[in-house]
Amino acid sequence: MLAKWWARLNENKNVLWKSIVLNSFGPSFRGKLMFETANVNIQNLSPLWNDIVSLKDDNCMEPILGNGTWKWKVGNGSKTLFWLDSWLCSMPLYLKYPSLFRFSHYQNETVCFFQFHDSTYNNGWFIYVDFPLQSFDSSEFDLMMDELRNVVLIEDKDDVMFWVPALDGCYSVSDGVRLLVNDNADSIPEWANLIWYNPIPSKVLIFHWLSIQGCIPVKKVLLQRDILQDGQNASCFWCFNTLESVNHLLLHCPWATLIWAEVFRWWNITWVMPSSLASFSYSWGSGMGIKAGKLCRLIGPVTIWLIWLARNNALFNNDFTCWSVIAKQIKIKSFEWATNARFCYSHQFYIWESNPWALL
Ligand SMILES: [Zn+2]
Repeated sequence: MLAKWWARLNENKNVLWKSIVLNSFGPSFRGKLMFETANVNIQNLSPLWNDIVSLKDDNCMEPILGNGTWKWKVGNGSKTLFWLDSWLCSMPLYLKYPSLFRFSHYQNETVCFFQFHDSTYNNGWFIYVDFPLQSFDSSEFDLMMDELRNVVLIEDKDDVMFWVPALDGCYSVSDGVRLLVNDNADSIPEWANLIWYNPIPSKVLIFHWLSIQGCIPVKKVLLQRDILQDGQNASCFWCFNTLESVNHLLLHCPWATLIWAEVFRWWNITWVMPSSLASFSYSWGSGMGIKAGKLCRLIGPVTIWLIWLARNNALFNNDFTCWSVIAKQIKIKSFEWATNARFCYSHQFYIWESNPWALL
């Protein structure tokens, strides 16, 4: 998720938050974190921005931020540094042609600085390299000129950053997860299919992800972190029968079971609740066919989200909600997401509520 901010900062969109951040980084910063973290004075940054900038030094982020994963797609060449940025190939030219770079006069100039048009408007390149006579070796020069031969700058097109692993050049969190796991779809955690599902709001997906990691503040977690002390009541808020764990509260508590039973009745399915939220997230909606699965996959996360909200509302505001009201809210909220994603239309709620299969 931090890498997403990194990617947004590298995009060529002019938005207010970005202007503020760039000003805080200092005037020498072009807004391209990939190559310029050395210019950033991290002492003046907020903890969040400090985390984002520090990603560059994190070895685990190599598949996302490493050399070769970001490069410039050159338009008019006015932002890309000819020698120092990656643009012509997967590495900067100063690394690929070190001898040429060593004797070049203009090491910090942009790409457009080196291209010229002759009297017949043909493009050419003037590299401004002075070799000492004794050590002249034209092989690097010839190779680089050969690479440059087909490069044409487009005057009215800006240079943009391009994330190489994606076909469209745009970094996405799901692609990032895939790369970090092992660049192999088979090795993605089994629950990831449900987690990164676009029609569901990010805050709900993030809550779901944190729940699977066992990081939401249920009493078991608070005990493990010594926020609740031994002897303090850590039993389930609803049934008082057992320790309040993530899996119990969201899946197995008798109170939650009433809600899940209504969801199953609504979809006319019979299902044995898995032992963990990770198993639940892997198997929920699978085997239902593409269309039914698309709709049904909305229901699991919304049910978990609303169970959590109802628990907090009762615990902190003393506002208790009947399980049947929550079951109704699940239908309303999931329908809202389904219509936003154009899976169905707003006048179809009565069908959705009574028999969602009829919408397929
Ligand atoms: Zn319980």
